Amino acid sequence: MALDVNWAVKWLTLSAQAMAEHRTELIDLDRAIGDSDHGENMDRGFQAVLDKLAETPPETPGAALKLTAMTLMSKVGGAAGPLYGTAFLRAATSLGDATEIDPSALVAALAAARDGIVARGKAEPGDKTMVDAWMPAVEAARTAAEAGGSDVLSVLVAAAEAAEAGAVATDPLVARKGRASYLGERSAGHRDPGAASSALILRAAVGAAA
Ligand code: ADP
Ligand code: MG
Repeated sequence: MALDVNWAVKWLTLSAQAMAEHRTELIDLDRAIGDSDHGENMDRGFQAVLDKLAETPPETPGAALKLTAMTLMSKVGGAAGPLYGTAFLRAATSLGDATEIDPSALVAALAAARDGIVARGKAEPGDKTMVDAWMPAVEAARTAAEAGGSDVLSVLVAAAEAAEAGAVATDPLVARKGRASYLGERSAGHRDPGAASSALILRAAVGAAA
């Protein structure tokens, strides 16, 4: 399957579905080490993305991601809104006006998203943030692209699997960035909510291509 605008819209639609389905779970994760709003923020933000996509159907994957960025920045409060907004905006810029995304463009867009999150939040790997999902996702995507030739699905699968493992690996970590860092050692033993939502979004990208 080609990663075109239909894929992008399906990805965002499945992301919105995942945020709605996992709303309570993300709220519970954020209750443990934050302020309980992550599930609600993400659900509200992605529902607004669906409204915008219906209102102004995008013509390229980049346009779909740019519209997503703008919407998430204005509708998702807290730390996650600007972080995801920057991620989607950098990915959109990386894709430009392309109508189809090949494996190397996909890896470049994922890397741009990760770089945007790091530029905005200044978190390092191991700080127990969404960076711990995105870093391994981008590395796995790059490895899969180098191995797999023109197969975009295998790149997306590799990214999603690595993001899921990265999210699970935040469980024992002590938070050093964001609201959870106020808890110090007590933040250990809980999964980072933003890493969990990042893994859901990257898994939705697979669903849209499968
Ligand atoms: P808030 O913390 O303002 O309530 P959310 O609950 O929506 O915002 O999002 C919290 C998530 O944001 C965290 O789980 C973490 O993944 C992410 N996060 C917070 N600060 C940073 C940062 N500096 N860099 C990267 N990610 C961060
Ligand atoms: Mg929160």
